[in-house]
Amino acid sequence: MTVRLDDLPLRDDLRGRKPYGAPQAPLPVALNVNENTHPVPEEVADDILDAIALALREVNRYPDREFTGLREAFAGYLGHGLTRDQIWAANGSNEVLQHILQAFAGPGRTAFGFSPTYSMYPLLTRGTGAEWREGEREADFSVSAVSAAEQVGEARPDVVFLCSPNNPTGTPMTLDVIEAVYDATDGIVIVDEAYHEFAPHDVPSALTLLPGRERLVVSRTMSKAFAFAGARVGYLAADPAFIDALRLVRLPYHLSALTQAAATAALGHADTMLAMVDDIVVQRDRISATLEALGYEPYESWSNFVLFGGVDEPARVWERLYERGVLIRDIGIPHHLRVSAGTEEETTAFLDALASIDSAS
Ligand code: PMP
Repeated sequence: MTVRLDDLPLRDDLRGRKPYGAPQAPLPVALNVNENTHPVPEEVADDILDAIALALREVNRYPDREFTGLREAFAGYLGHGLTRDQIWAANGSNEVLQHILQAFAGPGRTAFGFSPTYSMYPLLTRGTGAEWREGEREADFSVSAVSAAEQVGEARPDVVFLCSPNNPTGTPMTLDVIEAVYDATDGIVIVDEAYHEFAPHDVPSALTLLPGRERLVVSRTMSKAFAFAGARVGYLAADPAFIDALRLVRLPYHLSALTQAAATAALGHADTMLAMVDDIVVQRDRISATLEALGYEPYESWSNFVLFGGVDEPARVWERLYERGVLIRDIGIPHHLRVSAGTEEETTAFLDALASIDSAS
């Protein structure tokens, strides 16, 4: 007899829940999970390999539990006068966010975000036994400082997620919203800047708001701008006391010696690693312009992807693209689809495939 999930003594609050499940299909043009589709440049790859080879010689020992060198490298990359005692890192920013929730959410507590937003926030929240609360955005997916503060003040969550720019909509968030939300709550305010490097260069980071705000935390990832999704490295900046809270919940030695070596070596080449960002932004803007010309309704994006409306049958368009070897994302917003900006060739393949589909039939 086949055992079903329901037959197991699973936690009641996890029954009926669905796991994260973006399709991983081996299609020639995969633009569905906002990866950087450019490979790591050759000269950086060589350096990373050397660093991993060196670390491998001591892999019989546990790694530096405090990943001191890596934290120093992140502080250097982020600037803003940050020092390593204000930095944390883990296996992807998903794990970074999980650490925050383990320390500040959990049973009897709540976390809050403005819907639609990154689909892992509710999953991570519920994973710690906390409850997920949803706020609202305007029709164009923006949220004003006044409305954000009002909603957070009313919901009184223990943790607030502000995704800046927002996934899956690409929507910009300005610093006044973050300041207003911080002032409206006694809880933790997480600004998820996973896509910050794709925003206009003169847009200030929420890192500028950290001084004097010990409940504010800014998370980042190497998965997007750094083309390092497979290495699984995310990080954050916050008050040193906040970092102490995360030490209470992390697993000992959670960042492997090989991960630490690879990430530190990659950060030593930040300029080269980030060189593709401007190209990706050019492709993103080309996607928006072409979508508009095709009669779709793309939203303003400060990230490496574009959400577009005006799709009569998203499931059907998604399937037609799939048949043409192009994988994008149906994120469940009626009449909308999302596509990540790829290389120039991948982007052309997507736009040509889409143009060949009659979305109305
Ligand atoms: N935050 C946002 C807004 C994201 O879109 C993603 C990945 N799609 C993550 C965090 C997690 O990224 P990672 O775990 O690869 O760092």
